[in-house]
Amino acid sequence: MHESINRYLHEVLRESSRDVTGTLASYIPRLRDADENLQALALATTDGQQCSAGDDEHRFTIQSISKPFVYALALDDVGLERVREMVGMEPSGEAFNELSLEGGTGRPLNPMINAGAIATHQLVDHTRHESHPGGRVSDSRTSAVRSRTARILEGMAGFAGQELDVDWDAAEEEFATTYRNMAIAHMLKSHGSLDIEPEEAVRGYIDICSVLVTVKDIARMAATLANNGVNPETGQQVVSAEAARTTLGVMATCGMYDASGRWLTQIGIPAKSGISGGIIGVLPGQVGIASFAPRLDEEGSSVQGVAMFQHLSNELSLHLLSNQ
Ligand code: GLN
Repeated sequence: MHESINRYLHEVLRESSRDVTGTLASYIPRLRDADENLQALALATTDGQQCSAGDDEHRFTIQSISKPFVYALALDDVGLERVREMVGMEPSGEAFNELSLEGGTGRPLNPMINAGAIATHQLVDHTRHESHPGGRVSDSRTSAVRSRTARILEGMAGFAGQELDVDWDAAEEEFATTYRNMAIAHMLKSHGSLDIEPEEAVRGYIDICSVLVTVKDIARMAATLANNGVNPETGQQVVSAEAARTTLGVMATCGMYDASGRWLTQIGIPAKSGISGGIIGVLPGQVGIASFAPRLDEEGSSVQGVAMFQHLSNELSLHLLSNQ
């Protein structure tokens, strides 16, 4: 991509680095000990061009940015009707790890909060994958958990256009103290919204939160969603165009948790944030955008990442609801 775009991305990083507010996620040592000065920004266009700046080789756990991709895979595996039986598509207006279900149906409100992501995870068809993920997987996982993780990893690799690894130590660390996600899974089970055992669902969910990525990887993953589910580089149809579109709708309305309304109004790009400091944004037919900076605001999104997206949206006129 053009030299001037690269210079511009460096400029955006420099501008956003002035804001040193926010705090690191502290619930596992991996995230607590992160270097808070890291920052990176990447673009990947739907015609296969890429550009990045800053700490773009730094690998971090994907965390909640996995949620839209797992949702898209589940949509293709079991269809929208079945997915909607188990998970809604309305904003929750609550924190990402809230213990709440939709009144009446007992479903989680949407797949971008933990309850919805855990319910979505179970829907991915693990029988589509025979082998087990590589690396040091502990024996405490059942065969179904391992093959579901392998199937999702394979799908995520399709989105990224390259193999991805899991940080199994981060997964163990998180699983050891994931009382809240276990509470969510038990709540789902008691409402009939979980067909597998709570521990299996949470194990698999956390394994997938622990997939290691760079900003360049998640920009390419976002570009695949922007490109009707087709990876712009490899040409692989990873998910159907319908699954990609439905996923973008849910990202636009629910991707930034309880700041989703403000984000859509001010920045105007379907997006998803993760607690390790990443954010992806997707402009259909144009580009996947990814930022990384670990300090988080009160909603659990990267402070500098939000600033980077605000710059890009204003200066490049990327707001979807504006034609200026
Ligand atoms: N693994 C994290 C959790 O379940 C992911 C949350 C996030 O990125 N917001 O709590």
